[in-house]
Amino acid sequence: MVQETDKNKVVRQHARMETFFSGGFTIKGHKNDQKKAQNSKAASELARLAQQICECRKCPLGSLRTNAVPGEGDPNARIMFVGEGPGADEDAQGRPFVGRAGQLLDKIIDACGLERSQVWIGNIIKCRPPENRDPKPEEVIACLPYLQRQIELINPEIIVALGAHAARTLLDTNKSIGQIRGQFQEYYAGLGHQPIKLMPTYHPAYLLRNYSKENRFRVWEDMKTVLAELDLPIPERHAR
Ligand code: URA
Repeated sequence: MVQETDKNKVVRQHARMETFFSGGFTIKGHKNDQKKAQNSKAASELARLAQQICECRKCPLGSLRTNAVPGEGDPNARIMFVGEGPGADEDAQGRPFVGRAGQLLDKIIDACGLERSQVWIGNIIKCRPPENRDPKPEEVIACLPYLQRQIELINPEIIVALGAHAARTLLDTNKSIGQIRGQFQEYYAGLGHQPIKLMPTYHPAYLLRNYSKENRFRVWEDMKTVLAELDLPIPERHAR
């Protein structure tokens, strides 16, 4: 399985190099047109899905929310960050990771040399559980198909699962985050789809509660592994 994913990486790298050398025109032009069409299809499907999420009443959280939080970012993102579910700030604004944990996630993204608009950010569940309690299994079961479809449409190269809930749900495992973080796992993307590499790391809210040098170092190590896998440069000031 891992070998299959690596083969995909080689194919993608090759395609990127071809685009780079051909300048994306002449013979390759029609391929770029196809890609653009696929991209805009993904964007419009994601927007339609977001509308459905905002109207969803599949579980009781639908009638308790102020706003649903479908997720946001680049429909062609190479990295998707997935958290657990909206908190009070996200519920108020209808946007993911905009509270304190979100500010820390922004810093992590910035340290990677990326902008929030270049990645996609979302959650396992789209509506805030009262008092920020853990989502109930039936709520996750009702909501998960939305995220699965978002992953299918965006088709990222890497999913970063923020925290135990996201990692366990996406990997269908009971292992602790301490056991699985830092090493690529595989997200099963469904029949006929290649598995997607998934990096579990600590949730920014956990990091805020346990703001030690060791924990920050671990998250940064995890993100450096992600950047290296994507052949993205590791920004100088964080290189060591
Ligand atoms: N925590 C999450 O898991 N998701 C958010 O969107 C915000 C905080």
